[in-house]
Amino acid sequence: MALMNGEQYIESLRKMNIKVYMFGELVENPVDHPMIRPSINSVAMTYELAHVAEHEDLMTATSHLTGQKVNRFTHLHRSTDDLRKKVKMQRLLGQKTSSCFQRCVGMDAFNAVFSTTFEIDKKHGTKYHENFIKYMNFVQENDLTIDGAMTDPKGDRSLSPSQQPDPDLFLHVVEQREDGIVVRGAKAHQTGAVNSHEHLIMPTIAMREDDKAYAVSFAIPSDAEGIFMIYGRQSCDTRRLEEGADIDLGNKQFGGQEALVVFNDVFIPNDRIFLNGETEFAGMLVERFAGYHRQSYGGCKVGVGDVLIGAAAVAAEYNGADKASHIKDKLIEMTHLNETLYCCGIACSSEGYPTEAGNYQIDLLLANICKQNVTRYPYEIARLAEDIAGGLMVTMPSAKDFKHPEIGPICEKYFKGVNKVPTEQRMRILRLIENLTLGTAAVGYRTESLHGAGSPQAQRIMIARQSNMQHKKELARKIAGIDK
Ligand code: SF4
Ligand code: FE
Repeated sequence: MALMNGEQYIESLRKMNIKVYMFGELVENPVDHPMIRPSINSVAMTYELAHVAEHEDLMTATSHLTGQKVNRFTHLHRSTDDLRKKVKMQRLLGQKTSSCFQRCVGMDAFNAVFSTTFEIDKKHGTKYHENFIKYMNFVQENDLTIDGAMTDPKGDRSLSPSQQPDPDLFLHVVEQREDGIVVRGAKAHQTGAVNSHEHLIMPTIAMREDDKAYAVSFAIPSDAEGIFMIYGRQSCDTRRLEEGADIDLGNKQFGGQEALVVFNDVFIPNDRIFLNGETEFAGMLVERFAGYHRQSYGGCKVGVGDVLIGAAAVAAEYNGADKASHIKDKLIEMTHLNETLYCCGIACSSEGYPTEAGNYQIDLLLANICKQNVTRYPYEIARLAEDIAGGLMVTMPSAKDFKHPEIGPICEKYFKGVNKVPTEQRMRILRLIENLTLGTAAVGYRTESLHGAGSPQAQRIMIARQSNMQHKKELARKIAGIDK
């Protein structure tokens, strides 16, 4: 099958029977649900842009498996150039959607599982890599969106998976059969799960021998028997349910989403299994996936940052404050922070290296530095955007008030900024800033920047591990004349 476009992707979701609950009810038609659809539109953009000549180089690649042109979101990186293009593609998508476009988790999982299965097979003589190559052919051929699923609910953080009073708090194998396995558990905070054709499951932490049943990786269609999802709420989400919702949304067309994905005794056939009990490889898979996803944030969050910086600059113009030197300086600071994140994304890509399986891995230290900065800078960029926007961003009446025959003209009059700009345009830009800093998109731009791809402490552990302190100490001792 050729590369899908946005409409074909949406139609492909319609053919599935994905079970999702929201507000205590099973959603009848997730594709057209007003709270879900914006997140589908964001993923659809990853398909649409692959058909735009100007973006072809970033959005597509040549598969080394089939020699065919594929969407870069299904590509196994073959060079540092591929790694850089991935980051640039994510920045582009962030700029176009101003939200999380969800498809990267699958891409990051493909690359981590591809290289890890190669090394498991080398040690254990298993067939996981062969299984995975077959799976990748299927994904590329059908241009699928995959939920790369790592995070388990985790229960008591002081206990290992097998020590939890409830064994299901980490996803695990409950039955080994001749033809496959049966799994039970859940994956939490699953970005784009409801919009994905399949889930690619990985363990969430390094495991010990006792955790054998928990060291499992596999792929399964999103509508397989025994799988259902519970949709996550977002700040201001029900604004999307309001009749004629438009201006108050800030970003009407695009959004992101997360869900809890429950696996209630789901059967996985043998050829869809990529890890089953080889506990010593769980850590490698986690580290590689997390590394790729920490690189990813040096692209996607930067693209969204571009929109937010632009929105702040427009708000300043509409307020008549754009010539003030402190406003100019704040915009410079926002740009400096945003481009620093991009530098990190590009740097960890440029310092990438080939794995034994032949695909390219990012530089782990630099990717962790990237994500550590992402846990901070978007907050400061958001703070400066709010500073520039002014308090009206959170005190402004609703769009309905502006349309009201009597109070509408009053709102028009008192919420006007510079005379030549219609009040509605001022509302629109302030609502976009609200959306990104406090509303539905803040899930992706703020809290996900903190906790997505691992919370800040996870990066600090990796930074400590990768920092080569011994070497630094040797350098100092030599210069100080202690070591000869
Ligand atoms: Fe992609 Fe960023 Fe969303 Fe992760 S947070 S799926 S990298 S857009
Ligand atoms: Fe994420």
